[in-house]
Amino acid sequence: MSTVLAFLAKDARAFLGALETLALAALVFAALAWAVKGRRSLADAKAAAGETRINAVLSALDQLAVSPIVALFIAWLTTVVRDQGLQLHAAPVWALLGPTPTLIATVFLGDFVGYWRHRLQHTKWLWPAHAIHHSDTRLTWFSLERMHPVDRLGSALDTVVLAALGVPFWAQAGNVFVRHYYGYLIHADLPWTFGKAGWLLNAPAMHRWHHARDVAGSGANFATVFSVFDRLFGTFHLPGPCEAPLGVSEDMGRGALGQYLHPFRVWLAALRPATRKAILAAE
Ligand SMILES: [Zn+2]
Ligand SMILES: [Zn+2]
Repeated sequence: MSTVLAFLAKDARAFLGALETLALAALVFAALAWAVKGRRSLADAKAAAGETRINAVLSALDQLAVSPIVALFIAWLTTVVRDQGLQLHAAPVWALLGPTPTLIATVFLGDFVGYWRHRLQHTKWLWPAHAIHHSDTRLTWFSLERMHPVDRLGSALDTVVLAALGVPFWAQAGNVFVRHYYGYLIHADLPWTFGKAGWLLNAPAMHRWHHARDVAGSGANFATVFSVFDRLFGTFHLPGPCEAPLGVSEDMGRGALGQYLHPFRVWLAALRPATRKAILAAE
């Protein structure tokens, strides 16, 4: 009983901490939007209010229930990887590099892993869970919070891969931190392409094209931090700021429950013999 209470108290403290961080992020991005777009930023925020409400509900559910479970699962899996001897002994390499190059190398490596994981999330069987993130028609920094638990678990597996590659624990944590906050930036409603820096770094306009519906570019730009991976693997698309309609063609309801149930509905339907036949016939 005391263990459960201690867990709940820890969960509540983490939730309050996350609320503080979100409030600070909201202030920073509101100030940025005002500096770039002036009064139009207020109209844009008003137009995004409906989607922001869904993001807020899913974010709260994520902080309270999903994040602690994902964290426990990843901690267990990385321990299994270590105990089973599946971890590369790369400590001398990191010691030679020093802290800052180690962190930069880890974020680069993490982005490479994340690029391919994200491409997997766009394949037929994983897409129904990832579609929840793409269903936001008014992309803002807060859209990063719209994730299905299955999708969150998939993304968190990046850390297990880094652990298996022998990346130090502190650098794994640093990678999560950098990718999370850079993730807010690329989802922000800002027209930035980053100019020449866009050759190296992902920009908000680049990720907005990734969220475009039914147009060229919607199957592009899979990385989070570095644009080089998309350039290297032929998925780069940045003709300029993105004004194309965003979202997905699937209807998954407007409520958080509808969003959570959507992939399970799709997967169950696909397992029914009649639907499977139709899918096979269509292929
Ligand atoms: Zn995606
Ligand atoms: Zn996104």
